[in-house]
Amino acid sequence: MTEVKFDWESGIEEVCLKLQGKKRIGIQVPEGLKPRAHQIVERVRELTGAKIVLWGEPTYGACDLADRPLEEIGADALIHMGHLPMPYHSEFYAVPTYFVPVRHTGELNLSKEGIRKIKEILPSKIGIVTTAQHLHMIDEAGKELEKSGFDTSVTTGGPRLAAAGQLLGCNSSAARKLDVDGYLYIGTGLFHPLTVALSTGKKVACIDPHSGEVTEANAKPFLKQRYAAISVAKDARRWAVLFSNQIGQKRIDLADKIADLLTSDGRETMMIGSIHQSHDQLLGMGIEAAVITACPRLAIEDGPTWPIPLLTVPEVQILMGKREAEPYPFDEFA
Ligand code: SF4
Repeated sequence: MTEVKFDWESGIEEVCLKLQGKKRIGIQVPEGLKPRAHQIVERVRELTGAKIVLWGEPTYGACDLADRPLEEIGADALIHMGHLPMPYHSEFYAVPTYFVPVRHTGELNLSKEGIRKIKEILPSKIGIVTTAQHLHMIDEAGKELEKSGFDTSVTTGGPRLAAAGQLLGCNSSAARKLDVDGYLYIGTGLFHPLTVALSTGKKVACIDPHSGEVTEANAKPFLKQRYAAISVAKDARRWAVLFSNQIGQKRIDLADKIADLLTSDGRETMMIGSIHQSHDQLLGMGIEAAVITACPRLAIEDGPTWPIPLLTVPEVQILMGKREAEPYPFDEFA
């Protein structure tokens, strides 16, 4: 298996130059970087002389900052690693917040065979999209594909997005805004390319930048699973409407509306708030189905492991007859 290496050190050094004189600095690291947490803490301590707090809650994106709890314990800065800022809420941080990008350090592994497979899947006019860790590979991919006859383009999406070509699990506007006939996704995992395929109705070829393997995003198993969850939820009487207080995931008005919709259909509903949501929080309450108004990835990625159906907001609207079931509507944050 190819070893994947990420560069966090150069970003830490750059940010620490701005943090001289700070007394207590909080750090958030995503799950994949936890094995390096001790080195990161030591390096920031060494470079700033400040007291360091590693924030222990998981973090899944720039939507999920620890600025408010860190303010409560007297921290005067937050270093948030692995995600790009969300421009639309950058004015509201409770403590000054610094984002340190974490990049995959390997080269993009785009071979002749890889290009041949991309040609098999996609027409020639394509957009290129990716996640924060692989943004620096977009230019190289574009140049190589143009040499092979593709017409490539890249654009920046909505106010949740900081860079051209960037996708979030809850926002594929960088793909939708392009006038193209298909997309190349650089990255791993199926969730992001599926959001692009389903929200645009166009083909998506995925290249794993580490192995160079090219595949087509296949939505069929995913759609089967989601429509099955909607069908099972039809008979549920007692519902939890889950919401988060995190600034980038908070949709209280929407949670109210969904609770009202379910109640007007004769279902019992309970609004349940937390930073992160899990099935354990619902144990002992006789809940038969839940809807997530916070991060929609929870329903898509973890939902199938829950013993009760966990739906997204558009899926509940389908269930209640308020929107069409097809094409499948992803839950996108504006
Ligand atoms: S997909 Fe979820 S974790 Fe990622 S940015 Fe959106 S709300 Fe945050």
